[in-house]
Amino acid sequence: MDKVLVVTGGSRGIGRAVCLRAARLGWRVCFSYVAAKDAADALSGEIAAAGGTALAVRSDVAVEADIADLFRQADGLGPLGGLVNNAGVVDQAARVDAMSAARLTRMLTTNVVGSFLCAGEAVRRMSTRHGGAGGVIVNLSSVASRIGAPGQYVDYAASKGAIDTFTTGLALEVAGEGIRVNAVAPGLIDTDIHASGGQPDRMARLGPTVPTGRAGTAEEVAAAVIWLLSDESSYSTGTIVTVSGGR
Ligand code: NAP
Repeated sequence: MDKVLVVTGGSRGIGRAVCLRAARLGWRVCFSYVAAKDAADALSGEIAAAGGTALAVRSDVAVEADIADLFRQADGLGPLGGLVNNAGVVDQAARVDAMSAARLTRMLTTNVVGSFLCAGEAVRRMSTRHGGAGGVIVNLSSVASRIGAPGQYVDYAASKGAIDTFTTGLALEVAGEGIRVNAVAPGLIDTDIHASGGQPDRMARLGPTVPTGRAGTAEEVAAAVIWLLSDESSYSTGTIVTVSGGR
C-alpha cells in the first residue's frame, strides 16, 4: 500500500487510535493537531519506530488556510487515498437559551465547516472526475445526533446531525467517481473530550447506564473506521456505523 491517509485531530483519542492502526496496515499517515504538540510528536515517533510513515502537521480545521496547508503537506507523502474527518469539539454543558453566537459559530465551524472543507480538498485529489484514482472518506458523527443531548450540548448534537446529512449527500455526489463516504457514530467513548467539556467524571457517571454497562474505547471506534477505509467495505457508501454499546 502506497496510499496516504489524512486524519484530522490525530494527536489524541479516537484519531490517535486510527493513525496507529492505519499505519500498521501500511497507510502513510498525515495527521493534524492544534495544541498537543508533544502528543503529536510522540505518535509520529511511535509509528516511525514501528517502521511506518507519519507526519504531524499543526492545522486547525476551523482555519481554511490551515486545511490547505495540511493537504499540501500530505501531498509530499504520495497520492491521497483516504480522509478521516475526526477532529471535533464539545463545549461546557449549557441549555440552548444560554448559548452565545460565538459558541455556536466555533462549534459549527470546527465540527461542520472543517469537515466540508477537508472533504473538498480530498475530493479534488481522489475523484476520477478530477483525474484521481478514487478513495475513501470516513466522518466522525455521534449518537448525539439521535439523542439530541438536551441540557448538555444540543449544539454539538446538531453539528453531528449535519455530519450525518453531509455523509449521505456527499456519498451520493461522488459515488460514481470512485469515492466511498461513510460515517462512524460512537456512543460514550473513553477519551479526553469529556474533560474538555468540563465533565471529567462523565464516563464514570454514564458508563453504567450504557446497555453493555461500560464506556467504549478509542480502539473499538478505530476498528470500525479502519473497516470503512478498507476494501472489506467496498460496497458500503452513505452508511453510518454505530459503535455505542447499544446506547
Ligand atoms: P479528543 O480526545 O478530545 O481528541 C480531539 C482531537 O482533535 C485531538 O487530537 C485534538 O488536537 C484535535 N482537535 C481539536 N480541535 C481541533 C481543531 N480545531 N482542528 C484540528 N484538530 C483539532 O476527542 P475524541 O473523543 O477522540 O473525539 C474524536 C471525534 O469523535 C470527534 O469528532 C468527536 O465529536 C467524536 N465522538 C467522540 C465521542 C466520545 O465519547 N469520545 C463520542 C461520539 C463522537 P489537540 O490534541 O492538539 O488538542
